[in-house]
Amino acid sequence: MSTTTIYNFAPGPAVLPKEVLQQAAAEMLDWHGSGMSVMEMSHRGPEFTSIITTALADFRELLAVPDNYKVLFLQGGGLGENAIVPMNLMGRKPQPATADFVHTGSWTAKSIKEAQKYGKVNIAASGEATGYTTVPARDSWKLTPDAAYVHLCTNETIDGIEYQFTPDVAQETGGAPIVADMSSHILSRVIDVSKYGVIFGGAQKNIGPAGLTLVIVRDDLLGHALPCCPSAFNWTIVAENDSMYNTPPTYAIYIAGLVFQWIKRQGGVAALEQKNIAKAALLYDYLDSTDFYANRVEKSSRSRMNVPFFLKNESLNAEFLAQAKASGLLQLKGHKSVGGMRASIYNAMPIEGVQALISFMQAFASKHA
Ligand SMILES: *Cc1c(COP(=O)(O)O)cnc(C)c1O
Repeated sequence: MSTTTIYNFAPGPAVLPKEVLQQAAAEMLDWHGSGMSVMEMSHRGPEFTSIITTALADFRELLAVPDNYKVLFLQGGGLGENAIVPMNLMGRKPQPATADFVHTGSWTAKSIKEAQKYGKVNIAASGEATGYTTVPARDSWKLTPDAAYVHLCTNETIDGIEYQFTPDVAQETGGAPIVADMSSHILSRVIDVSKYGVIFGGAQKNIGPAGLTLVIVRDDLLGHALPCCPSAFNWTIVAENDSMYNTPPTYAIYIAGLVFQWIKRQGGVAALEQKNIAKAALLYDYLDSTDFYANRVEKSSRSRMNVPFFLKNESLNAEFLAQAKASGLLQLKGHKSVGGMRASIYNAMPIEGVQALISFMQAFASKHA
């Protein structure tokens, strides 16, 4: 075994807290004396019931989810929700209904394309003119007076832009709910759930393994599913069955539950947010201090979770990645649609990982200066 400390900067599936992986390993063959692995248990038995009940309660506590919201554990991922959201919400208004989208980059592009199958789409604002380097200013949004909902991606994982404000759209839309895709920053910062109608996210960025999708939905938004909506993705049916309408992703829920307990031991979401602010500041300050590397995102829209950056001399990209890997700094390659590099620094990335990355970047820059 090498003694190099490994830091994994993957965008997702992504790094998990080591303590969580160690606990899962210790409990792999025999969960709490049950004689079974969590993977082998009935999802309706007393053991798994205690696992999912605790996970749900911890998640609600961590985000202070108000009582008039349901938390659902589903499958289908973030992209699945791109269809599941319109199938559940377009029916709020006479057909064909319109949903508003604030187009901020790669993920909203996919959400828009999918929603068009289930209703009309209005692009209320777009960051296209700036190359998706900024969240369009709130006062530029052209919302639909009677929209079924307003879709935002509050952290664009690929472009590295994040909302640093919580918008209010009620007045211009006649009370349309905000639907927020928080796949890549949920639990990284304190949010006011009551400002949103629906929050969804795939687990594999900041919560746990792929396969689990979380949905937080306000009670009054249930009961509007279009007839085409599959029952297993009809939020009303899933809520009535406590996320047990069909077999939920049991092992992913178990790991997510361990992550929720880890977050509580860290002092909760507010404490992690402070660490995330410090980690991001360290990396952006370094990027802004050098001419060797650059981040192109407008400062007010920079993501604390996903930091894309470019080498000024892109012919060094392959060498940068190979040497980073040899130094224990893994999965730094940028998304193919953007190029360059991307450091994803989710909750489970310690500040030491960011420091190690910066030290490596400094050494690489002085070697090639
Ligand atoms: C990763 C990601 C998705 C896609 O999730 P899948 O689980 O792969 O479907 C959607 N939205 C955002 C913002 C993401 O980061």
